[in-house]
Amino acid sequence: LTEKLQNVFKNLRSKGRLTEADVKVALKEVKMALLEADVSFKVVKQFIKAVQERAIGQDVMNGLNPGQMVIKIVNDELVSLMGSETTEIALRPAGEITVIMMAGLQGAGKTTTTAKIAGKLKAKGRKPLLVACDVYRPAAITQLQINGEKQGVEVFAMGDKQNPVNIAKAAIEHAKNQNFNVVILDTAGRLHVDEDMMQELIQIKEEVQVDQTILVVDAMTGQDAVNVAESFNQKVGIDGVILTKMDGDTRGGAALSIKAISGKPILYVGMGEKLSDLEQFYPDRMASRILGMGDVMSLIEKAQQSIDEDKAREMEQKIKKATFGFDDYLESMNQMKNMGGISSVLNMLPGLGNKAKDIEGMIDEKDMARKEAIILSMTPKERANPDLLNPSRKKRIAQGAGVDIAEVNRMVKQFDQTRKMMKQMPGMLGGKSGKRGGF
Ligand code: GDP
Ligand code: MG
Repeated sequence: LTEKLQNVFKNLRSKGRLTEADVKVALKEVKMALLEADVSFKVVKQFIKAVQERAIGQDVMNGLNPGQMVIKIVNDELVSLMGSETTEIALRPAGEITVIMMAGLQGAGKTTTTAKIAGKLKAKGRKPLLVACDVYRPAAITQLQINGEKQGVEVFAMGDKQNPVNIAKAAIEHAKNQNFNVVILDTAGRLHVDEDMMQELIQIKEEVQVDQTILVVDAMTGQDAVNVAESFNQKVGIDGVILTKMDGDTRGGAALSIKAISGKPILYVGMGEKLSDLEQFYPDRMASRILGMGDVMSLIEKAQQSIDEDKAREMEQKIKKATFGFDDYLESMNQMKNMGGISSVLNMLPGLGNKAKDIEGMIDEKDMARKEAIILSMTPKERANPDLLNPSRKKRIAQGAGVDIAEVNRMVKQFDQTRKMMKQMPGMLGGKSGKRGGF
């Protein structure tokens, strides 16, 4: 196929492309939504710029208006930016000890989350030991002990007279002797990022072999969360993040900012004060929460469906009036492609029986591109009126499409059969059960 022809295809297939104006208008709204969700300004700016470049010129999917199409692209981008899939805490084999250090500001939820993780690990058959390394906050040790007891997990504590490095070392010794295989260090936080806190964490890392440093961040702190993550990552180095207090009314923009700026995955989200309230992080759910456009997303789905229905009805009318031409044939093939393949469409049609197999064989998806080439080599008149096709026209068409004349004949024959079959099935398209249809 020539490049020119391929371009013609693309244009025909799509309902148009996103213009710069379309994209700019829609992204203005997206920008507002992201800022409202507390995504950091820097990240919003970068994100909007990247999406703008990517979106301009993209095809508008069947059944969407340009604004909706932009939002769909934005949603997809958000998901892929946040990692596309869930990430687990990396553990050593069960025969070895994995040391996890929890880090974060005071009140972020470290102690609570430590106990929550212990519960998850225990359920997986691990034997975790919790270690009280916060020797500053009054009652921090007791808090961990109470939580550990609730989870049925041992807590290692040495009071508040020892320094955290010594406590960590002693705890790992204890873990070795008692066959624990995960050691979780609950460290102290400060109200703000401060040098002493960082030094303490750095020192633990220098003297103890920490496998995973997990930063606990309060999602409600919004724009600040990203600064916290950046400082901890630069000074101490982190391997993953847990966002707490996502049960609050925050839209969770911190998840996006943190991933975008630190590159570290969000591992879990805290969804409440109870020790069972720790959930896996799902980028797709987070994307729609951050975007806060659930209504638009469902509108996009609905629009898609109703347009398909309209098209099916229109096509049915054409068949009844016998004005079903090659353009319609082409359009219906494309529609089927959009709907997820022939088999899924055939399954939606009632009462096809073994005819479904015939049709499926007739409309081979791999073959569609060649059929398109043939149809596009026809004049508009030939496409509207298939009966015009005579041998000399067919020869010209075959040359234009770069195929053998036999292939043109085969295509025309299949078209005829399809048309005939469709006539025999009145009400099949857009009918009772068929939400969609049309080929
Ligand atoms: P730390 O100072 O970082 O150890 O934080 P704590 O674990 O002591 O938690 C501080 C407060 O936040 C406590 O009242 C917790 O119950 C609460 N908290 C922790 N995680 C969550 C969460 O996911 N949702 C809610 N609503 N509260 C949480
Ligand atoms: Mg604590």
